[in-house]
Amino acid sequence: MAKSAEVKLAVFGRAGVGKSALVVRFLTKRFIWEYDPTLESTYRHQANIDDDVVTMEILDTAGPEDLLQREGHMRWGEGFVIVYDITDRGSFDEVVPLKNFLDEIKKPKNVTLVLVGNKADLEHARQVSTEEGEKLATELACAFYECSACTGDGSIHEAFYELCREVRRR
Ligand code: GDP
Ligand code: MG
Repeated sequence: MAKSAEVKLAVFGRAGVGKSALVVRFLTKRFIWEYDPTLESTYRHQANIDDDVVTMEILDTAGPEDLLQREGHMRWGEGFVIVYDITDRGSFDEVVPLKNFLDEIKKPKNVTLVLVGNKADLEHARQVSTEEGEKLATELACAFYECSACTGDGSIHEAFYELCREVRRR
């Protein structure tokens, strides 16, 4: 039987990495400089992916998120975008703990995710190399993209589309 063409995606990552900016860029092709950091939003978006109409429900998580809330979001999601900021080493260090938390919530299932290094336009302030991002993605067995929500460079669409494909393959 064909799987339902609706996928639930949740976006995680330290506050300030650009989760909201990325989601808004993906949905509207625009960049919004300041986005309420406490605002948690869900969006519905339809796209044609490999000749299939897919409806995405996208949850843009926001702090302050308590553990119970986070757990709820993780249970809800079928696929996850984990975002870090290439100019913020600390946000990169939070990726593995997030993945471990997801594993715990989703076990015995494997977690479906993509890793995104955002703010690639800020090359002068870079703290995490592309190679480190690639290496981590290999360890987590997931796809990796560097991009900029600000300029729209990089594969923002591809990150979301690939995640949809991965979810639907399961
Ligand atoms: P969130 O807390 O993860 O949702 O992060 P926001 O989307 O609110 O973005 C946090 C800050 O980073 C804002 O001031 C954004 O303007 C900025 N920002 C987000 N993405 C980018 C980017 O790709 N490049 C640059 N230079 N700034 C960004
Ligand atoms: Mg936000």
